Amino acid sequence: MGIDDGDDDGAIDDRGGAPAPAEEVPGSLAEAPVPWLHDALEQAETAALLPAVAALTGDVSVLREDLRVDPILSMMPGAEVPEAQLAEARRAALDALVRFREGGGQPAPPPSPADLRAMLDFVVGGAPVDDYVELFREELHIEGADLRAPAWSLEAIAPDRHVRAVVIGAGMSGLLAAHRLGQAGVDVTVLEKDVDVGGTWLENTYPGCRVDVPNQFYSYSFLQRDDWPQHFSTQEVLLDYFRDAAVTMGVRDRIRFGTEVSSMRWDDGRAVWVVATRDRDGGEGTVEAEVVVSAVGQLNRPKLPDIDGMERFAGPSFHSAHWDHSVGLAGKRVAVIGTGASAMQLIPAIAAEVGHLDVFQRTPAWLIPTEDYHDRVSPQQAWLFRHLPGYAHWYRFWLFWRNAEGMLPLVTVDPDWEPEGESVSALNDLLREFLTQYLREQFGDDPELLAAVTPHYPPASKRVIRDNGIWAATLRRDDVSLVTDPIAEITETGVRTADGTVHEADVIVYGTGFQASRFLTPMQVIGRDGVDLHERWGGDARAYLGVTVPGFPNLFLLYGPNTNIVINGSIIFFSECEVRYLCGLLELLVSGGHRALECRPEVHDAFNAEVDAGNRTMAWGVATVNSWYRNEHGRSAQNWPFTLLDYWQRTRRPNPDDYTWC
Ligand code: NAP
Repeated sequence: MGIDDGDDDGAIDDRGGAPAPAEEVPGSLAEAPVPWLHDALEQAETAALLPAVAALTGDVSVLREDLRVDPILSMMPGAEVPEAQLAEARRAALDALVRFREGGGQPAPPPSPADLRAMLDFVVGGAPVDDYVELFREELHIEGADLRAPAWSLEAIAPDRHVRAVVIGAGMSGLLAAHRLGQAGVDVTVLEKDVDVGGTWLENTYPGCRVDVPNQFYSYSFLQRDDWPQHFSTQEVLLDYFRDAAVTMGVRDRIRFGTEVSSMRWDDGRAVWVVATRDRDGGEGTVEAEVVVSAVGQLNRPKLPDIDGMERFAGPSFHSAHWDHSVGLAGKRVAVIGTGASAMQLIPAIAAEVGHLDVFQRTPAWLIPTEDYHDRVSPQQAWLFRHLPGYAHWYRFWLFWRNAEGMLPLVTVDPDWEPEGESVSALNDLLREFLTQYLREQFGDDPELLAAVTPHYPPASKRVIRDNGIWAATLRRDDVSLVTDPIAEITETGVRTADGTVHEADVIVYGTGFQASRFLTPMQVIGRDGVDLHERWGGDARAYLGVTVPGFPNLFLLYGPNTNIVINGSIIFFSECEVRYLCGLLELLVSGGHRALECRPEVHDAFNAEVDAGNRTMAWGVATVNSWYRNEHGRSAQNWPFTLLDYWQRTRRPNPDDYTWC
């Protein structure tokens, strides 16, 4: 396993990575022959390479203006940095590394604030970076320390106090919460309905399932791997990562598997949550804790559509998140309903196996060209991650910028922008044009198909899907049909569309998404004064910073309302911010000798008004296209409209005035 295991054999592990013959791979930077180093640098991302080289050698002169990648260009999918610039950047890096080795190869001391700023500036290309310096110190682990770990412990501030916490869910955020709370000395019990850790990466086993955020970014900041086998790992690789992380963090023993929370009730007199559980055998029990952390995710409960006749279908049918591996698809007629992120991964993965595939598309998705989407990390890239000091960190930062903050201008509404409808600003229109051009390249010789797959809504008003050409290759197959007529009903033998055609099917797969806006369902949550959380929300979930809800003391939500990100970033970054925030609140609770904390309603309401206004300035907030980004009231209860920096700043240190304490 690659989490801090010191394994240094120069080859990638066996989880799908391309193994490089160990004897051909130099074991360190010092041992790398110059021609080998030259070839390896050919595969380096220059926006990450030059800051890494500058940090290692102390030679910031490599951060030349003419070698900086244009930030807007770097964010435009499919746009290419001029070859000559790339070649010159790699040459400058190679020269600096050769000089460094000739000079004895002693790494430079950590960069001065000014030099660090210059390095950050090189990556972001002119955007203001001052506010980011602290954030990136944490993200980059330049000093090697885990700066997001709680800086307090119960033992240090209240040695006589015993605090129990129940964490619901052992997915990415639940494991993280258990880890951090454990570091602070809180007595943690994790209740997990499944039989293993991993959450979404345990449950979604459909063919083709993989992450669509690059691994170096979609991973805990403090548990980086330098040996990801692919840039975008498959489900099994991520499941292994979280399994290993649970062990490395020492939280696996705290988990009660096969235990589902059915309800929880706040006992005000005793200031404890009484959590009712049900195990797999139907056994019921209760657990009491001063603190409850809900880490159940937004995309946990599958949503089956409400189509007439579904129960009549005679063959097997299942949801993408509940894939039935006992059903063989070879040679069968298969209908897949939906073309969201899940369906667009599974459809190409089963197309070759099935006899005939009907793809039922209601709304086409924008595709973002991603050449290396299915690629393995090459031996040279793997070597750079492992043996060029700092490169992996700077690569992570480059991803952070390119996939996160830097994207926001492309999806922000310009109120004066005309024409409305298909884009929301000049930059968004430029993005639309880039994406449309990609579709033309992919489908251009088939005007009917091109028309069917071309969206007519602004990019980023619903999820943009990564593509390496596989979608067009799949839809062009003779044994695959794209059906765009609306579905009228499911019959005993297939799917009947509005034009009267019955599309015969042996198997139906529902790639129809999740009950995303029904946060915390189906649990019943009763807070202070007997208030039911779901009745309070009335289908319109809200929280302060996505974490706390007035009337529900000592309850903390992870990946709660308005903490999803549409285009910018990795949800793991958010979870790390949320968990740090809740640990900060617990520190205040304990150090102040309080029993309970509760968000002030006016703080909660003002925050929600701000978030709503923010969402109305983003593509997903104004577009009317179908998407899970809006709840039944039409409000975007899912998405965070601001920068990651903004969320990091707001959650870094809790403001005690935002809460009542008792
Ligand atoms: P989704 O994006 O909600 O897609 C559901 C699909 O089903 C849409 O195409 C929808 O059409 C269609 N649909 C729903 N009800 C229908 C009906 N009655 N008739 C016809 N079509 C219907 O769900 P998802 O694909 O499972 O993805 C959900 C989210 O999970 C993603 O946005 C992403 O955040 C996450 N995810 C991530 C990854 C990854 O990292 N690789 C993979 C999978 C999922 P409309 O578009 O018209 O509503």
